[in-house]
Amino acid sequence: MVTQWQNWARTVTAYPARVLRPRSVEELREIVRSAADAGTTVRAWGSGHSFTATAATADWALDLSEFRGFTDVDLPRRQVTVKSGTCLQELNNSLHVLGLALANLGDIDTQTIAGAISTGTHGTGARLGGLATQVVGLELVQTSGEILRCSAEVNRETFDAARVSLGALGVISTLTLQCVPRFVLAADERPELLDTVLESIEYEVESNDHFEFFMFPYGRRALVKRNNQTDAATRPLSRAAEFISYELVENRAFGAICRLGRALPAVAQPTGRVIDAVLSPRMYRDWSYRVFATPRRVRMVESEYAIPRAALAGVLAELRALYSRLAEPVMFPVEVRFSAADDVWLSPAYGRETAYVAVHQFDGMPYEKYFHEFEAIVRGADGRPHWGKMHSLGREALADLYPRFRDFTRIRDVVDPDRIFRNVYTDQVLG
Ligand SMILES: Cc1cc2nc3c(=O)[nH]c(=O)nc-3n(C[C@H](O)[C@H](O)[C@H](O)COP(=O)(O)OP(=O)(O)OC[C@H]3O[C@@H](n4cnc5c(N)ncnc54)[C@H](O)[C@@H]3O)c2cc1C
Repeated sequence: MVTQWQNWARTVTAYPARVLRPRSVEELREIVRSAADAGTTVRAWGSGHSFTATAATADWALDLSEFRGFTDVDLPRRQVTVKSGTCLQELNNSLHVLGLALANLGDIDTQTIAGAISTGTHGTGARLGGLATQVVGLELVQTSGEILRCSAEVNRETFDAARVSLGALGVISTLTLQCVPRFVLAADERPELLDTVLESIEYEVESNDHFEFFMFPYGRRALVKRNNQTDAATRPLSRAAEFISYELVENRAFGAICRLGRALPAVAQPTGRVIDAVLSPRMYRDWSYRVFATPRRVRMVESEYAIPRAALAGVLAELRALYSRLAEPVMFPVEVRFSAADDVWLSPAYGRETAYVAVHQFDGMPYEKYFHEFEAIVRGADGRPHWGKMHSLGREALADLYPRFRDFTRIRDVVDPDRIFRNVYTDQVLG
């Protein structure tokens, strides 16, 4: 029977020749060794939340949904080692029980830990890096079936390459994560005039632990989120308020508005002009992992680029001008987040203080022209694409954007000379 695989956004469909479900490291090693012997490629699946074809394969697919859980806990050092198929939600819950947390997370928790780090998944916070910067060691199953351990102390270059590696350097079997004591975040989310936000952007980014905002294409206001660590006790949203804020407003009402815009494009812009008016402030305190992640049920496509922080104002001005030129309406706001510079070779935030700018379009609506124009704008600012989100760049352009790109391919040539870990997406971006 042929298996059909599809990613969350339904932008990619694949038909793997075999789907294998290892439960132990030994089984994982055996599968990789057999693939190499058979001369076929092998690709690990995360939870399919990348918009690009990064997890797709027509050869052997590794379903790691039964390869999950902790293998080691070092409480004094606040480090845990987990199997690569562990879902972030399960990881966060287990860390909480241990009195620990990850310092920063993205806005959903349905990805696997290996899938998330492999594409450079990030949250927001100018003093913090993405998930890959919280990895202090990892183990890669090589083509021979042997395990290659790497960390800042052992095989340093492989470590710097492997933390964001698109599955191209081997199958990650386990990851060791540096955690922090669990903490409460005071969340403050409110609509504000976009121009006012932009005037004080440097102050906002520097003075908040986690600052981000959503810019609405046709409105004048932005939804601003400030999350700061606090010693105060939790005071979560009541179940009713949570249901109204996140489920009714952000998912159901927003979904209904998007469906209306898709069915009647003529009303999309007028609706978009008032959409920010229905947003209301909300303030609450909750454990960090509950604040970072929210349910995202409105299906969409997305492109996101990392640009130097200093280029943000210019890029947003160009984007705002673009909306008046675009023939097709855009239903989703632009999301703007921040990150510290890091030292992970293929991290979009490598070596520079970064602003991430993400554009989206509702499922089933035209997005090609919009994303093409967006890409031209961010390319003008030396933007680097998120590896898991839609973009059109190939190896040559990417090699110019990443100072350590050639070092990455050098390591790849050593660990996978026969390209057992390639797929159509690595062919595009790595060659
Ligand atoms: C609704 C939504 C919200 C999102 N929010 C954010 C966000 O806030 N921030 C952000 O940065 N991104 C975000 N993303 C993007 C998402 O985090 C990334 O695309 C991430 O890679 C998806 O993880 P996954 O587990 O689904 O992995 P997949 O998409 O299934 O796979 C990603 C890559 O990891 C590889 N891989 C998986 N497991 C292994 C392994 N064991 N060893 C080696 N390689 C492996 C796969 O082969 C593939 O190359 C979002 C996506 C969606 C759909």
